[in-house]
Amino acid sequence: MPSTTDLVADVEARLRPLEVALAHAWWTSNTDSSPETEARRLHAELARRELLADPTVFADICDAREHTDHDEPLVQRQLHLLHDAFAPHQIPEDLRRTMVELETSVESTFNSFRGDMDGTRVDDNAITEVLRSSNDEAERRAAWEASKQVGAEVADRIRELARLRNQAARGLGYRDHFALALATSELDEGRLFATLDDVDRVTTAPFAEWKATVDHCLAARFGGAVGDLRPWHLDDPSFQSPPADGGLAIDHLFADADLEALTLRTYDGLGLDVRPVLAQSDLYAREGKSQHAFCIDIDREGDVRVLCNVEPSERWMDTMLHEFGHALYDQECNRSLPWLTRSAAHALTTEGIAMLFGRLPREPTWLVSVVGADARTVADLGPALAATRRAALLVFARWVLVMTNFERRLYADPEADLDSLWWDLVEHYQRVRRPDGRHAPDWAAKIHLAVAPVYYQNYLYGELFASQIHSTLEARAGGLVDQRAAGELLVREVFAPGASLRWDELVVRATGEPLSANHLARQLVT
Ligand SMILES: [Zn+2]
Repeated sequence: MPSTTDLVADVEARLRPLEVALAHAWWTSNTDSSPETEARRLHAELARRELLADPTVFADICDAREHTDHDEPLVQRQLHLLHDAFAPHQIPEDLRRTMVELETSVESTFNSFRGDMDGTRVDDNAITEVLRSSNDEAERRAAWEASKQVGAEVADRIRELARLRNQAARGLGYRDHFALALATSELDEGRLFATLDDVDRVTTAPFAEWKATVDHCLAARFGGAVGDLRPWHLDDPSFQSPPADGGLAIDHLFADADLEALTLRTYDGLGLDVRPVLAQSDLYAREGKSQHAFCIDIDREGDVRVLCNVEPSERWMDTMLHEFGHALYDQECNRSLPWLTRSAAHALTTEGIAMLFGRLPREPTWLVSVVGADARTVADLGPALAATRRAALLVFARWVLVMTNFERRLYADPEADLDSLWWDLVEHYQRVRRPDGRHAPDWAAKIHLAVAPVYYQNYLYGELFASQIHSTLEARAGGLVDQRAAGELLVREVFAPGASLRWDELVVRATGEPLSANHLARQLVT
């Protein structure tokens, strides 16, 4: 039995090169997609999983946790992080392989599947275009239905995945996969649902009021009664974001803008330098490149990169600021910390920081100071900008309530009537009426259930953290835009400590109180 310090050093020495190799392979497969780069990524992924599944290493970690001196918090912390990384992989080899194969097959169906609209294959962009612009109800309905067709293709496999994930979780002593996933990501189920109840409580009335106004507009637009509205009257197939009718479009403000320069300028204003990340990044659309956006910390030594497909629009401005928020978090982590703790405290804290910056394009002070928009014009837009920010928060919060409640029920009973359960939740939280007589696995059309299970709650917690840290910056740094004190506070209290603190301790330290829905509620007050 090695000493605890030796054990941690030994596991780090084995894990670190595998993580770095995987990060390089991941970046290459996303910037230069080919069968070879994809094979290299898979190979790197399997090598990492093989170590995480090693039962001897895991037994040593568990043993060391019981015998570590509590005077060594950083050692204890590394053991804890290792435990949570290894635990979910401690499952029989054949079960693990079956799960990986099933996940891969569902993911590849999602990648290649195209919905059918009157005999024409349509991708997501084509569907979105119809829902944003068409006034033809039959066409809208066909587009919405096309967006859900993938659900029927994958539903049986997702149900089977839920059964297998539960089997694996029970083998490890957890109630089901939902309980395992929360427990190994430092989330307490009771506390999570208490927070979700709070979010429900503070959003129910303002959402109902906002939705009634939108419904009224939509009914007028489509020439029917509010009671005739169905999901295809909204712009977004899952109603994750407000319809354009329910907010203010500001794309024209970015039509001639250099989004890279605005990103640089935004962070310069806080005394935060994104140039090292910009130099490593891949920001514009190209053949053979991922269509999405992400930030990746390659080595936890300063090689941080962002991938985007920038176009001059509000959406991409939000995305650039979001991804560079993640990047700064990684870049400013204290590099004298042990490697294992040199990352964000939690997915929710890095999402929260990214969301904090991603909200700026709808902030009047940012539009004036950074974009150089005319102050009087922005002042006139002020109330509409505030209403748009509020609508986006409300709609997103209600959507996460559907997803998280659904996932808990999915793992509690994969054999349940999930098709009905999904629409019960959608009607309750989102106030969208189910299509008459519809029985289809519409829940399965959401890719997260298959490939990023029990993750959605982090987005909501991220919004809560963004709202809470925003209040702290207002109180202690004069706000966010062009406030060097804000940059200093974020580095000192949030970025530098990395994962050396648990996320809930970090939140208390940075904001003076535990994470709650209170500050989100404050932003919803008109
Ligand atoms: Zn993000």
